[in-house]
Amino acid sequence: MILFQNGTLVYPEGSRSADLLADGEKIVKIAPHITPPEGCEIVDCTGKLVFPGFIDAHTHFDLHVAGTVTIDDFNSGTKAEVAGGTTSIIDFGTAYPGETLNEGLDNWFQKASVGCSCDYGFHQTITEWNDQISAEVQDMIDRGASTFKIYMTYDTQIDDSTILKVLKRLKECGTTTGCHCENSGLIDALREEYASDERKGKVSSHYLTRPAAAEAEAIGRYCHLAEVADEPVIDVHLTCAEGLEEIRAARRRGQKVYVETCPQYLVMDDSLYDNGDFDEAARYVCAPPLRKRSDQEALWKAMADGEIQTVSTDHCSFTVEQKRLGKDDFRKIPGGMPGAETRPAVIYSEGVAKGRITKEKMCELLAENPARLYGLYPRKGVLREGSDADIVVLDPAAERTVTVKTQVSKCDYAPLEGMKLQGAIGKVYLRGELVAEDGKVVKENRGQYLKRGLPEFWL
Ligand SMILES: [Zn+2]
Repeated sequence: MILFQNGTLVYPEGSRSADLLADGEKIVKIAPHITPPEGCEIVDCTGKLVFPGFIDAHTHFDLHVAGTVTIDDFNSGTKAEVAGGTTSIIDFGTAYPGETLNEGLDNWFQKASVGCSCDYGFHQTITEWNDQISAEVQDMIDRGASTFKIYMTYDTQIDDSTILKVLKRLKECGTTTGCHCENSGLIDALREEYASDERKGKVSSHYLTRPAAAEAEAIGRYCHLAEVADEPVIDVHLTCAEGLEEIRAARRRGQKVYVETCPQYLVMDDSLYDNGDFDEAARYVCAPPLRKRSDQEALWKAMADGEIQTVSTDHCSFTVEQKRLGKDDFRKIPGGMPGAETRPAVIYSEGVAKGRITKEKMCELLAENPARLYGLYPRKGVLREGSDADIVVLDPAAERTVTVKTQVSKCDYAPLEGMKLQGAIGKVYLRGELVAEDGKVVKENRGQYLKRGLPEFWL
């Protein structure tokens, strides 16, 4: 048994000073004062914040893109996650055209079999539609991959009529999907134009050919398709104020739209792409791209106001050498960056410590809401008797500086290199076991598969 004494337990509805007792894998008691049972280990949490283990509902480990594969697989990626306080991840299984959904999911189970250091689950990506795939939606739910992902851009994209069919089928099954919203036609035309002259070799062409308008238009279209299907939907990685306006419009129509954003869109901006040094600028290439400072402020405010429900990483890491695949053609730069081990610390430092959001809101965005939306609540996402003892002890007084030198991810750069963070993740427990401490993994490969239930729709 482990007794967490004298800490501040954080809940979306309000924090409280209390002791927490874990026995085996579960939280068994929470009370103002608990007398330590005999032989019990004591963790002194005086002056510390005690959060439920954080959930990252958007990762890409061992993903093949742009002729290469992400440098982090499930093994290194989940180590990075748990080092930073994340105890559950949900990656994206993908059924590529020609594959059944079951085959796609089998492949992702295989990828995860290298050993995971936090608990893991899968969304399932749908890239084409036919009667068999429609029938297999229920198989995915039965196998615990209970939520889905679709794309409006890339070669995994599906067209509007297919999106409508998918949404109607997911509604029948009581579940929903996330969507990567960007207008592919608009982006393709701009990319062709930029690739026809000297702009082909510039990293800045990446963001100039994926404007906020392309994202906002797709969000609006996706929401209208959801309106017709009468289906709640999720917009993943929202980046901009213009896209937020489309979500507000859908909500005014009475729709349920759940919104995710990521730390990179909150603390980095598109000026990073203007660096003339390719190796510097290319590390920030991701899609949708980084936006303006005004967008960052709009997103922080939307988080504080409850307009954004979750913050995930979209961790998709490539080394500088891999990014060089696009040295002469910006269209070939593999898109994505690491973020697994810094997400909770960055949201605490830039959000809570700077007064943009409360610690209670942070708990909602990184733990409770993803647990509810992705069918893990109340097993995960909350400090409650009977819940898994996934526990993160955060020291608000500590300071740390982000650097690749201490990074657990295999990526050879840290996007936030040199950033000073107020507050630090100390001990991290996965189902009652100490798995990480002060940014280092102390016990590996303790993660288990999360068979998830159906989403909760609360908006
Ligand atoms: Zn993604």
